[in-house]
Amino acid sequence: MRISRVHAHTISDTRDRDTIETTLFTDKFEATASIPSGKSTGAHEAKELRDDDGSVTTAIHNVTGEIADALSERDFSNVGELDAFLCELDGTQDKSRLGANAILSVSIAMARLFAQEAHIPLWRFIADTAKTTSAAPRLFVNVMNGGAHADFRLPIQEQILVVGEETLKESVTTAHEAFVQLGDLLRKELPELPMGDEGGYSPAFDTIERPFELLTDIVSKWGNTSIAIDSAANELLDGNEYVLLKKRYTSDELLELYTQLVERFHFHAIEDPFAESDKQSFTKITAKLGEKVIIIGDDLIVTNPKLIEDAVEHKYINATLIKPNQIGTVSETIDAVHKTYDAGWHAVVSHRSGETYDTFIADLAYGIGAHGIKAGGLAQQQRLAKYERLRTIEREATELSQ
Ligand code: PEP
Ligand code: MG
Repeated sequence: MRISRVHAHTISDTRDRDTIETTLFTDKFEATASIPSGKSTGAHEAKELRDDDGSVTTAIHNVTGEIADALSERDFSNVGELDAFLCELDGTQDKSRLGANAILSVSIAMARLFAQEAHIPLWRFIADTAKTTSAAPRLFVNVMNGGAHADFRLPIQEQILVVGEETLKESVTTAHEAFVQLGDLLRKELPELPMGDEGGYSPAFDTIERPFELLTDIVSKWGNTSIAIDSAANELLDGNEYVLLKKRYTSDELLELYTQLVERFHFHAIEDPFAESDKQSFTKITAKLGEKVIIIGDDLIVTNPKLIEDAVEHKYINATLIKPNQIGTVSETIDAVHKTYDAGWHAVVSHRSGETYDTFIADLAYGIGAHGIKAGGLAQQQRLAKYERLRTIEREATELSQ
């Protein structure tokens, strides 16, 4: 694959912050990718290049300048070759020189070009490249936003409705109906109902349990639904303790709180229950609750194959969150999935809290047959684009199998 032209420019994400959108051209095809941006981030994520004024001007210049020049002399036969080339060109461990956002935009656009050249959908290309079995993921719909995504009106960052109907079409329909019903329930008891960064409701309650009591009402109406949370506990840590609704918890007390929640409500998953520095607490919760719920690592492992290996060795978790921009290339994202599957763990593919209309994660989730996909609440077009793409993928998969 020879790239004949490279274009990149600034677009706005869901928080109205600048982010990068890149288009690659060959003689016959063109493909575009844009990159999301996180707010509750792990310390070891690949570095998004952002200038002091908040813009991504340098990242864009890196794509249209140094990267474009380097690509013009090369012919790539697969995305792995391109990704290795980009990593070498950058020369840092964390992609901080050229920027993980710059590099990933090129990597994803190139994956789309290879899929076009092969006349196959992107999810099929990902499955072929990763040698995974494609399948529909459950929807992990962040219906009530809290934490850093909603001024901590709720301490837990994400109260998630997990939907796993027979088909993606049905799952998306259930998610929509449940989301509307939850809105009605919330409006009945709250004078105001703002929305959070991820397109979910952002209520304020004075108990930890109230969101789950309401979600239980929802879950009881649909058979194939359950509850999950992302505590994003890096954001709750204060000294050696965690603060939720102004109450302080030691790690053991927080573990006790999770145990009670899992006993009382229909929980399916808990993500980042502790801060990434509190590793022994991850091992404890996985040993205690890991048979009943999946314990997902996000900030703890940041889609980094080496950190996943470490997590496997210490049994910190039993599932990984997969966010391509935490590691910065398609190939390394696939490596992270392989490390996850080699351990017999589940992978949940995820968006970021600052999103674009790019739907790569929908193809990734389907292509690797992920256990789930976190694509946000249903009140933002950029999140809905992912759900719509999943429905289209389902149709493409049916057509391909005929
Ligand atoms: C998350 O923590 O899982 C998340 C999606 O948030 P952010 O993008 O802010 O890291
Ligand atoms: Mg998270």
